[in-house]
Parts: sequence; C-alpha cells; structure tokens
Amino acid sequence: MGSQIRKTPVGTAVEPAAEASALGPEIMNMMEQGILVWSADAICEFHNSRLFRVLELGARDICVGMPREQFRKRAIARGEMALENAEYSAAQIAAGLPYAFDRHLPSGRVVLTSGRPMRGGGYVVTFTDVTEARRAAKDLVRAKQEAETAERMARDVLSAERARREESRLLGQLDEWLQSAKSLDELFMIVTKFMARLLPGSKGELYIYSNSRDALDGLCNWNTRDLHSAIAADSCWALRRGRTYEYDAKELCFMCDHVEAHSHGVPVAEYICVPIMAHGDTVGLLHIRFEVADETAAHMADAGQFAIRCGEHISMAIANVKLRDELHDQSIRDPLTGMFNRRYFMETMRREIAAASRRGTEFGLISFDADHFKTFNDNHGHDAGDAVLRAIGERLRLILTSGEVACRIGGEEFAVLVPNASIEVTRNVAETLCLGVADMQVRYLDGHLPRVTISAGVASYPQGGHQPQVLLKTADEALYRAKGAGRNCVR
Ligand code: GH3
Ligand code: MG
Ligand code: MG
Repeated sequence: MGSQIRKTPVGTAVEPAAEASALGPEIMNMMEQGILVWSADAICEFHNSRLFRVLELGARDICVGMPREQFRKRAIARGEMALENAEYSAAQIAAGLPYAFDRHLPSGRVVLTSGRPMRGGGYVVTFTDVTEARRAAKDLVRAKQEAETAERMARDVLSAERARREESRLLGQLDEWLQSAKSLDELFMIVTKFMARLLPGSKGELYIYSNSRDALDGLCNWNTRDLHSAIAADSCWALRRGRTYEYDAKELCFMCDHVEAHSHGVPVAEYICVPIMAHGDTVGLLHIRFEVADETAAHMADAGQFAIRCGEHISMAIANVKLRDELHDQSIRDPLTGMFNRRYFMETMRREIAAASRRGTEFGLISFDADHFKTFNDNHGHDAGDAVLRAIGERLRLILTSGEVACRIGGEEFAVLVPNASIEVTRNVAETLCLGVADMQVRYLDGHLPRVTISAGVASYPQGGHQPQVLLKTADEALYRAKGAGRNCVR
C-alpha cells in the first residue's frame, strides 16, 4: 500500500531513502504529545514513545502493525472513548475529514485526540494531555455560573426588599387613613378606595355581621358592581373554620357558596376570604377574588399574602372604630333600656335650643313617669320592674321613628324631645306613648306581668323656657298635674 511514512521506531533499520528524515522519529519522541500514524488501510504505521505515557498504555496496547480497529475497541472497552466519538471519528475518517474529541482516561485525565488526513491516505493522530486546560475551563464556567447565581439572588433579594418596603409604605398609608375614619361608613369608603389601588387586579367585597348576627350585610366593594346585600354566615368556609380561606381552582378545595352564587358562570381562579376579627369576635368578612388568569402564580401568591395583610389591617381598624363607637355608646346610653342617658339628653336639648332659636322654630318636650311603680316592685319584685322598664324602652323605639330623642332620665322617669313640633303635636305624641305603654303585655318568667301605665307632662320651646333645666321643670310640673289628675293621662 502506498504509505509515504515508513519511519520505524528507534533501533530498527532505517531505509536509505528515508535517511534525510531519520531525525523525525527522534524529535517525535521528545514531543509533549503522543503521535500515532495510521496507514490508508488502517494499520499502525508509526507511534512515538510518548504515546504510552499520554494514553497510559501498556507495552502490548499499541505496536506497529496493529489494526486501528483493535486499538479503537480497546479504547471503547476501557471507557475512554465515548461511543458517539467513536462513531463520529469513523464517519470523519470515511469522509477523509479531520476530527477531534476528548478522551477521558480511567485515571481522570483528559486527552485531546486530533486526527488529520495525510496527503495520499492515512491519518496522523496527536494525543495532547489537556486535563489542566479543561479543568481551568470548567472552573471558569462554574465560577461564571456561581457569579450569575449570586447576582440573580442579590437581584431577587433586592426586589423582594423593595416590594416589602413598598407594601409597608402602602399599608402605612392605608392605616393612616383608616385611623382617621370617624365612622364605620367613612372607613368603608376608605377601604373601597384603597383596595382598588392596592390590589388593582382584584375584586372584593366587605361584609359585616348584621345586628341580629344571622347574616352579614354587604357594605362596600371595589372593582366590581357585585355586592350581595346579605350573605349567610355558613356560606363561607373562612367564617365556618374561623380562619383565612384561600381557594385555588387548581388545588382540591371547595368553593364558598357565596362565591359560587356570585360567579354568574365566570370561572373564579383564586380567591381569599379573610374573617374580620375585633377583640376576639368575628365581626365580618373580607372577600377578595382574582379573575385574571394570565398573571404568574408567584405574583398571585404575593398578592394573596398582601391581601391577607390588608385584611388584617382593615380588621384592626374596624375593631377600633367599633370599640370607639361602643365606648361612646356606653357613655351616652342607659345600660338597662338602651335609651340615651340624662347627660346626653341635656346636651341634645342644648343643641336643639340653639338650632331652634337660630331657625326661629319650636320643639316639644315630654316628661313621663311610670304609675305606682313602687307598688309594682313591691308586688312583683325588682327584676319584674326592670323587665317593664326594658319593655318601655323597646315600645318607645317602635313608636318614635321621626327623629325624636328618647332618654331615661333616671329610675322610672323618661323624657322625649320632639323636634320641630308644636305643643299640640307634642301632646299627640305623648298620648300615643301613654296608649302604647298601657297596651304592652310584658312576658316575665312563665307568664305575663300586669299592665303598667304612665303619666306624661308636655312643654314646648320657646314658651316653656329657654334653658334645658327650665324646660324640663315645666314638663315635670305638667307631669305632676297628670299624676294629680288620676294618672295614665297627659297634661
Ligand atoms: P307614682 O309615680 O305613680 O306617683 O308612684 P311611684 O310608686 O312610681 O312613685 P315614685 O316615682 O316615688 O317611685 C319610684 C319607684 O320606682 C321607686 C323604685 O322602687 C322604682 N324604681 C326606680 N328605679 C327603678 C329601677 O331601675 N328598677 C326598678 N325595678 N324599679 C325602680
Ligand atoms: Mg312613678
Ligand atoms: Mg318617679
């Protein structure tokens, strides 16, 4: 076969024609790389001695005259030549093209194998130990990856920190407004405005327990026109379980009835129900839903957590306003009958006198007292007497629905302010009260208590006096006349 290189290793006879390049093999033995020459018919034609060291070969692993196939099989069997590299190099050789790939020796060293076709057929292959270079490159890649990871982490931490700061800034703003709310109505207005801004992708509603506590009244909403006027407490999982309920359509969980009834067939992806607690009591429900499905799950999770925090802040504000209202109520109301107390009544009268004198209008005052109440107490007990006083309070609430202000002055004495009323109108109101109280049947223990009557005296501003005490005295004097006239009547 027409191999051009027939150089033989040192020690063998050198053909005269090759004399000029006799130095060739000597130089090749001094090289760093292993060298191997395959003839065109794939037989080892030459290799240098360095090859043994570079490829960690034994004396029989390579020799001149060895077929390439044998050498290659050994390399595959040792696992130093990946099958894909074997196939790749074979294909390159078949096409007469150069090839290069890394061999991974069992010792862990990496050897770059690079074959180049020779003119006239055959291949010269160099084997270079690149272990250090590859490790350095790997280290470089790893260092770059680590730097990128660290940078990403720093970015994430920073943006989370920024988001947290922005969140607490917004919550701080919300708090500031909530705290300045003078009434629950004002507070609900603030919630509506803020929630639409704080959670732009959300829709929500706020419900508060009705006084009867069997349902919750819908009080405000944002980004939606839907608002149930009332929902049943047992239609919400959060209220039933006493803690925040997060619904996710992708998870196995149940939709609250109040949401299902609301959805009008529009799929609800996620929603949150936050019970509103005030001093240990559940006072309401904050419902927030997310119908936008194209936002990322991570964002939704964040929004969910933020919504829960908003709910907590709103809860606290409602609790505070309720407490303030309760305290205020306690300071102006009589605990037995729920009517206003004497102090509040006198204040109200002072305001009414000022308003009436400014406008040049009149108003009426009724003073009334239960008849023979001492005897009633003696016969039926003080508790029964209290039940009657409570019943009088309830009856007054039923009768007086036109802005009248009723109060328990003390004991079994009451007073009513009738705004914008003449003495005749006031007298009619007093008559209605007398009839209304006389008509009452008060349940007590297993039966009904005997009927109780009242006597009433009326006065009017400005004729009856220009000061609260004077007006009240005028009405009281009329009341005494009613007592003197035989009771259960108006004077
Ligand atoms: P009359 O007004 O018709 O002249 O007779 P009276 O028996 O009601 O007389 P008076 O107004 O002097 O008596 C008030 C009684 O009302 C005395 C007290 O036993 C009773 N009373 C006052 N405050 C309460 C209360 O908070 N609960 C009960 N159960 N009784 C009260
Ligand atoms: Mg009395
Ligand atoms: Mg009395």
